[in-house]
Amino acid sequence: MRVLLIAPPGAGKGTQGAIIAAHFDIPHVATGELLRNHVARQTELGRAVKEHLDRGELVPDGVVLDMVKQAVIDAKEAGGGYVVDGVPRNMAQARALYEICRALDMTANVALHLKVAEEELVRRLLARAALEHRSDDTEDVIRHRLEVYRTLTHPIVDWYAERGILVSVDAMRPPERVGRQILTALEAMRPLVDYVPEHARRPIDLTGLGAAFGSI
Ligand code: ADP
Repeated sequence: MRVLLIAPPGAGKGTQGAIIAAHFDIPHVATGELLRNHVARQTELGRAVKEHLDRGELVPDGVVLDMVKQAVIDAKEAGGGYVVDGVPRNMAQARALYEICRALDMTANVALHLKVAEEELVRRLLARAALEHRSDDTEDVIRHRLEVYRTLTHPIVDWYAERGILVSVDAMRPPERVGRQILTALEAMRPLVDYVPEHARRPIDLTGLGAAFGSI
């Protein structure tokens, strides 16, 4: 199973990425984590990207694309699955990632979009700020990261819908319920992923299911 997580800050990419990785026993590649790790270790790369992170700006595309390329190469050797959280964050990254993965015969099977209302995202990020002290979790920077998501990242969701690999999930609910719905959907899709060509598929929208059935 090869999954890309597309979601705004605070939607739960990291949490759901870890749940998916554990369930399918595949590597979890989180670019934000990798970058923060470089900053903490004060590597050359870390020093180069620190200001971008602190201001809530995207780091240059080449930096993350190099990181993710290596991660995809490693994932191929480790068995072929992955869950990537944090890339792509704009259209140029989406196209470049597709080319990188195609060359390695490792294109994503599913682009998983976590949908959360903006007020809820601000609430969650401010709550996290009180606990974790991430340098980009101040109110001004949070609002800027949400704007970057809205203008640069969100438009790529339609591109994945056109490619037929989009699955949208309502992530307003508690993390374990969101996780359960994601795993149910991914398990149901396994045969599709293995046997149905990408171009013959249609986007899957599960965001109305919570309201329809109550407790999925
Ligand atoms: P969040 O989604 O909450 O902002 P992440 O941990 O995914 O958290 O990312 C934190 C920061 O890392 C981003 O604000 C950005 O500066 C940088 N970053 C992560 N992934 C990318 C990417 N693909 N392209 C550019 N910058 C990135």
